[in-house]
Amino acid sequence: MNELLRQIPKIDLILDKIPNEFHDKLDREILKSRIETLIDDLRTSIKAGEVSHFDVDDIIGRVIEDISKLCDFSLKRVINGTGIVLHTNLGRAVISKDIFKDSIEALTHYNTLEYDVKTGRRGIRYQHIVEKICALTGGESAIVVNNNAAAVMLVLNTFAKNKEVVVSRGELVEIGGSFRVPDVMLASGCILNEIGTTNKTHLRDYENALNEQTGLILKVHTSNYKVVGFSQSVEIDQLATLGKNNEILVYEDIGSGLIHNIFDAIAHDEPIAVDSISKGVDLVSFSGDKLFGGAQAGFIVGKKRHIDVIAKNPLLRAFRIDKFTLAIIERTLTEYLKPQSSITGIPTINKLKESPMAVQQRLKNFVDNFGEALINHGLTYSIVETKAEVGGGAMPLYKLPSFALGLKGPFSVNQLQDQLRQLQTPIIATVSKDILLLDFKTIDSDDFDLLYQGLRDCLEATQ
Ligand SMILES: *Cc1c(COP(=O)(O)O)cnc(C)c1O
Repeated sequence: MNELLRQIPKIDLILDKIPNEFHDKLDREILKSRIETLIDDLRTSIKAGEVSHFDVDDIIGRVIEDISKLCDFSLKRVINGTGIVLHTNLGRAVISKDIFKDSIEALTHYNTLEYDVKTGRRGIRYQHIVEKICALTGGESAIVVNNNAAAVMLVLNTFAKNKEVVVSRGELVEIGGSFRVPDVMLASGCILNEIGTTNKTHLRDYENALNEQTGLILKVHTSNYKVVGFSQSVEIDQLATLGKNNEILVYEDIGSGLIHNIFDAIAHDEPIAVDSISKGVDLVSFSGDKLFGGAQAGFIVGKKRHIDVIAKNPLLRAFRIDKFTLAIIERTLTEYLKPQSSITGIPTINKLKESPMAVQQRLKNFVDNFGEALINHGLTYSIVETKAEVGGGAMPLYKLPSFALGLKGPFSVNQLQDQLRQLQTPIIATVSKDILLLDFKTIDSDDFDLLYQGLRDCLEATQ
């Protein structure tokens, strides 16, 4: 053992053997401390009797592996073969390249973030989006924050801190991650007044719940599930009237932020901001990176007198949107202002509107280009009909007919699935009935080369 310990090389010796590229990328002290940690681990393993032999090249190999990972970007592009258009773990709405490019000028220079060029005085960062979002939704004013969870919290905290929030038991939703309506209410300082039952809530339940302690009436869109069968909820127009008659604020969290009724969304119970507002609700909120198709943000739109109160809440400072997001959001709104048939610049909307035939054609193009090469690597492929999904907790019952490339080979497809995930550009596939599936709803033509190269590299590694 002592002999082994003595063989551990000096740090300087290892440093000298690290290729130059890493000396350019990494500070010497950081590099040294990474090596020290690895050497310490080795020493511990030797003392524990877990290592009976090593050579210096092994150690150098491990150091290089460690520092390569340290220098590599962890947040990177992936190829989404899941067929889930708004995949929350894969970055939700894809940002348009054109919109991104359009934002660069403002973002890489000084800009008007909080500057009013007319008066030469301090401006308001929210002002950049107010007119556009109001033109689209019919609201009087608006504010935009980090995400819809922050929007919900801000509204509740502003109008119902230490007061009761009346909400239907059928709408106490969990959106995933850690967004649960009851938890958000607690965190915003409100008292939950649950009414009705899981499947049925009547107008009289709301009427009976109102008292001097009531801060607001909340309606939450049950984005990711649907109570079907013997069920009833109260429509937003009835709630708006109830609120007006009792001088109580009515707020609807519509979740997904659909601006236009694309793909018959209303038939699938997806609320549209303009409808809620025209039905008289005081405030609505929704996400910027779900069906809206922009960047992570939360809109609050509605009556000006309420928005003005929100603007004075000190929490707004903690939730405030940054210039990067604001630039993307403003440009996405500008796209929405166009005539509906000309709105082609929002990737999420394009994907959702795209016909199954177009997906099939794209898959055929891939197969025409790369099918033979895949066969030469020992794979068999088929074209499989699938059901793609909207995702992002929106329209859970709505499926998008789609097509996937189905792959089989003389090896375990689960193993191939694992390897594909670990490529430099990860490929995220699913496996069903022993076939590896790559759904082309979420694979674009500009993914083709990387997709083929990734498959090829994994297959060559397996052979
Ligand atoms: C998604 C969702 C939220 C959370 O929105 P984020 O933008 O992810 O914070 C809140 N409420 C509803 C109804 C939702 O669907």
